[in-house]
Amino acid sequence: MLPTARPEVQALIEEVIALRRDFHRHPELGFEEVRTSAKVAQFLRESGLEPREGIAKTGVCALIEGPVDGPTLMLRADMDALPILEETDLEFASQVPGKMHACGHDLHTAILLGTARILQGMKARLKGRVKLIFQPAEEGPGGAWPMIEQGILQNPKVDYALGLHLWSDLPCGHVAIQSGPVMAAADTFQVLIHGKGGHAAYPHESADPIVAAAALIGAMQTVISRRTNPFDTAVLSVTQIRGGSADNVIPERVEFSGTIRSFQQPVRDFLVAQLQEMVPNFCKAYGVEGEFHFHQGYPPLINHPVPTGWVEQAVKKLGLPRAVQATMGGEDMAYYLQEVPGAFFFLGAAPAAKERTFPHHHPKFQLDERAVPLAMELFLRCVEECLCTE
Ligand SMILES: [Zn+2]
Ligand SMILES: [Zn+2]
Repeated sequence: MLPTARPEVQALIEEVIALRRDFHRHPELGFEEVRTSAKVAQFLRESGLEPREGIAKTGVCALIEGPVDGPTLMLRADMDALPILEETDLEFASQVPGKMHACGHDLHTAILLGTARILQGMKARLKGRVKLIFQPAEEGPGGAWPMIEQGILQNPKVDYALGLHLWSDLPCGHVAIQSGPVMAAADTFQVLIHGKGGHAAYPHESADPIVAAAALIGAMQTVISRRTNPFDTAVLSVTQIRGGSADNVIPERVEFSGTIRSFQQPVRDFLVAQLQEMVPNFCKAYGVEGEFHFHQGYPPLINHPVPTGWVEQAVKKLGLPRAVQATMGGEDMAYYLQEVPGAFFFLGAAPAAKERTFPHHHPKFQLDERAVPLAMELFLRCVEECLCTE
């Protein structure tokens, strides 16, 4: 049995779920959330708020101010969908071929809108302010950083930040929250190997970049297994390879790329330094030339103990089961948490039927809408922990 939310939440559930289904039918990719953000702004206006639009292209922000001064707590939702062709049988499945809300951001947006309307009704109790932000492009290239660059953490200055992610492989109503690192730095890299092309029958007259690439890809894993402290978490995955055009030709060049994940900045720096040294030297042993290019992605997401404590209190008071979860996935919420103390938590929303459970970003991905009132209730209780204490 899931706990019941307060009457204000219950009264809004239907409307919030209708909004969610509307977003789901009309998914928009990062920085193209024009329809979504217009709906967001409209709902906020209908709730008595004065939203600011067009932040980092499609971002929206609104402020709810209590009568007594106090801290500013930011609540964040992401609005973007993914370039995936939806394969669910849902009545509200995507109407845009090749685009799908396959991560639950449609729910995040609807949940924060519902929460905003209730907070507006209880603002007389707030000692401080709630800043609501609806951000574009979480799935890439990232909307959080441009929102920060456009001053989203200022005017008024944000003191704390909270965000949530519904999760498809956590049972509905379970909450994963912990302080410290919970999501990984999501960096990418590219390796270029320059050899000497030639006839495949006379390899001694060439410098074969394919053989070098094959050996190097295996050897790169030893940076994780042999060089990195086993107590430091890290992942390296090569995900794309390009090279060659004919069966009887040794190509001039091979390139491959992938992602590196880690939880701590020193580990992140260490991995890059190791690879930067390894790639050219390893290639030299194969008589080819190697280049390593690093592209910095989202930073590691690190929860601060104070806001984490509010979420923990909210979970406890609601009587929801706790889960422990850290993932090597990346989240651009991490940028806000680099600037201000904050917390990001996962709320389980696995479908009741096991055969309907698919991972995030899967064409059959779906979530249990019974998580909606719980998510709103959790946000409201966190606001109460932060802004309604005696
Ligand atoms: Zn996602
Ligand atoms: Zn997501």
